[in-house]
Amino acid sequence: MLIAGNWKMFKGPAETAEFCLGLREQELDGLDVVVCPPFVSLAVAVQLLAGTEIAVAAQNVHWDAEGAYTGEVSAAMLRELGVYGTIVGHSERRQYFGETDETVAMRVHAALGAGLFVIACVGETEEEREGGETENVLRRQLSVLEPDDNLVLAYEPVWAIGTGKTATPALAQEAHAFVKSQLDAPVLYGGSVKPDNAAELLAQADVDGALVGGASLELESFTAICRAALRS
Ligand code: PEP
Repeated sequence: MLIAGNWKMFKGPAETAEFCLGLREQELDGLDVVVCPPFVSLAVAVQLLAGTEIAVAAQNVHWDAEGAYTGEVSAAMLRELGVYGTIVGHSERRQYFGETDETVAMRVHAALGAGLFVIACVGETEEEREGGETENVLRRQLSVLEPDDNLVLAYEPVWAIGTGKTATPALAQEAHAFVKSQLDAPVLYGGSVKPDNAAELLAQADVDGALVGGASLELESFTAICRAALRS
């Protein structure tokens, strides 16, 4: 079971240090825990979580090793910093920054090639779900990826991200089973996971963990979700 916290554009180095100092005091043995701070806070997170079982991942990575790509960061640079993995293809990247299935595939390929662990995100919008397009969208998003020991998927219905509208456990299970039928990899659920709904989502047979946004920003709610995962 894996619980990953996507901090999005929250927590600079000082807040990251405070969170990591608190996190390392928690008893989370037996659970895979990952935190994904913004780029500028990765170094302090790596430093403060060194020697623990808690991994640090980035939220994005470029496909080239280096080059004229203003504002981007390469997998080699993340590795040099001691970063363990990265999220790729989050719906906010697809929605606001022009990320496409093709660029997601390039980023995933480069990250895996450089030895990073990858959480690749897929998921349909509300319009696509209402139009009966969910499986087609997931099939298309997954068609550019290949199984890899270091690849984990996150099923994140876009209509459930940051909205408080969580998928029902049954809906999540159905989507996860479909995702796994397309690509053999563990699948995390993401979309308004909170301490009070984590247990029933994580109890589903094909839900292998959670990618948590808003509720990963407070130590108390993040560790409550981690404890729910440990019990499931
Ligand atoms: C996310 O950012 O991946 C996410 C699932 O956000 P939230 O938990 O806030 O819906």
